[in-house]
Amino acid sequence: MTWSIPIGRFYGTTVRLHVTFLLFLIWIGAAYGMRSGMQAAIDGVLLILAVFACVVLHEFGHVLVARRYGVRTPDITLLPIGGVARMTHIPEQPTQELLIALAGPAVNLVIAAILYGITDTVPHLSGVDFQDPGVGLIPRLSSINLFLAVFNLIPAFPMDGGRVLRALLTYRMDYARATQLAASVGQGIAFLFGFLGLMGNPLLLFIALFVYLGAAGEAQGALFRQLAHGMIVADVMTTRLEMLSPDSRMDEAALRMIHTSQQEFPVVDGQGKLCGLLTHATILQAMHAGKADAMAADVMMSDIACLHPYQTVDEALRLLEENQVPAIGVNDAQGRFIGLISRANIGEIMTIHILRDKNRPASALPLSR
Ligand SMILES: [Zn+2]
Repeated sequence: MTWSIPIGRFYGTTVRLHVTFLLFLIWIGAAYGMRSGMQAAIDGVLLILAVFACVVLHEFGHVLVARRYGVRTPDITLLPIGGVARMTHIPEQPTQELLIALAGPAVNLVIAAILYGITDTVPHLSGVDFQDPGVGLIPRLSSINLFLAVFNLIPAFPMDGGRVLRALLTYRMDYARATQLAASVGQGIAFLFGFLGLMGNPLLLFIALFVYLGAAGEAQGALFRQLAHGMIVADVMTTRLEMLSPDSRMDEAALRMIHTSQQEFPVVDGQGKLCGLLTHATILQAMHAGKADAMAADVMMSDIACLHPYQTVDEALRLLEENQVPAIGVNDAQGRFIGLISRANIGEIMTIHILRDKNRPASALPLSR
């Protein structure tokens, strides 16, 4: 997140530019400029900017359809490899996921068709060549949009085609199995790309790696969600915690930090209310900046979302993702702080669950800590 720069907010979604994207622009400009002069450099950069405008429109295709189904997308990040729209959750209804996934490539097809209408040059996949100076900007952009639609429909995560495949499989089997199967198909395709890449196309090798990692990540995420299903906050929250008060000094916090492996420190006031959160890193940063006497209240992250112990872990995962915070609080019925829940400790509890189910099927160990 820190490596991306917000460039604007449209329809409630922030568009961010990743630093590597800016480096990519500079690289393209320099490469064109050195080969064919200043005008070529400007043309190259203009083309890339136009392509990325199309990528943003593609992402907004996903965003606007997702919104129809109540899925929020707080931001879109532009990377040199394309855009990523972060969704607060993935709809588990296959038709919704199918339509959200198809909306992006559909936008590229519409753009390609409109540009074709303007120039009367038929877009074709071989027209993508960035280096052919004979092709004008608009026909080239039209071909690139056709390429983007086709490329994104490759049935492999993290491409839209992977989601399309999963959605289609979900009509016939449960979501987690559909994800596993779609991920396997994706990894098979990654191997094929990798093989073709080794035969002499380095770009394919790069895509293969990207697809392979995307498939693994998606499969893991689905397993996580499946396990989280049916668990409640009380099952996974951490209750034995070192706590700080709003007037705790940073040097005091640092001392306490030494005696625990805890990563997040709740800041709790005299009434037992959670006022904020201090992380291991913030405490160290404050010490580093010579603010040993700063008070927790001045350094902490405030407005931490809170849940009740009987709410679902799904809800906790959603809040963690939506707020991009390291942990969320757990309050009792009177609004007093009783525990903390972080992604790391949900993961830990799930590992225990998996190991337990492996060794002792059909047992019911209580798993609160
Ligand atoms: Zn897409």
